[in-house]
Amino acid sequence: MNYLILTTLIVWILWFSERYAWWGSTVDLKRPRVLMYHMVSDPVPGAKFNGLRVSPDIFERQVRWLKDNDWRFVTMSELVRHKPSDKVVAITFDDGFEDNYLNAYAILKKYDAKATLYLVVDRHDRDWSVSKKSHHNSGELKNETKLSDQQIQEMLDSGIFELGGHTTTHANLLALDEDSKYKEIKGSKDALESLFETKLSSFAYPFGIYDPIVDPLLVQRAGFDSAVTTEDGIMGDIATSPFELQRIKISGKDGFLAFKIRMRRGKRGLRK
Ligand SMILES: [Zn+2]
Repeated sequence: MNYLILTTLIVWILWFSERYAWWGSTVDLKRPRVLMYHMVSDPVPGAKFNGLRVSPDIFERQVRWLKDNDWRFVTMSELVRHKPSDKVVAITFDDGFEDNYLNAYAILKKYDAKATLYLVVDRHDRDWSVSKKSHHNSGELKNETKLSDQQIQEMLDSGIFELGGHTTTHANLLALDEDSKYKEIKGSKDALESLFETKLSSFAYPFGIYDPIVDPLLVQRAGFDSAVTTEDGIMGDIATSPFELQRIKISGKDGFLAFKIRMRRGKRGLRK
């Protein structure tokens, strides 16, 4: 073999291995996988947040693969109560984008799947990306249509979705004092429970930003029995830290190989 081809091949193998860490072992299949999605919609050319957009075709392929490979779909309230068993997966959606109703709902129904929706109460006309980084003021996420109450009611009535808390305004919890944090957390639970006549048992920290000393206790005090973060990975023992559960980030920028690797190992490669 010519020296240049050999070098190119070695460089490619190293790149591929670093990116996908294909040699890594599978995390125990008795540990549930919690998948984090935001939007199920086609990417927008040139948009900043395309990682949050998983196209409907790819989403369907992922759900079909889970079904075909004997993963059992649960909501977060079921996950917390479930006995350890092989291959349990909880699909979660953050924020409340309308495409969850327009695109994801029918796919979940088709494959007899379930999901948990971490819904922001005051979600319309609100640009929460700026409360994380002030330069995120493109309005891209603000301009995405959010779910209406009527759509949500239909999703809940189907039995396919359950609601989780995600604060009233998608607050950056680190920027608030304890009273205001508690109002955001408990207030969102109370508001959604009375509006939709349902029970919320799980919470998601907005942006995955939280104070690990105080905030899990506030979430517990508000009456939730679990909370998910945006830390990438497969959750450990649920009894040890039910208020800091890791999730597997499903990015619209990843291919199908990356999805399968994430299901096995929590992360796609060495770093993410
Ligand atoms: Zn969010």
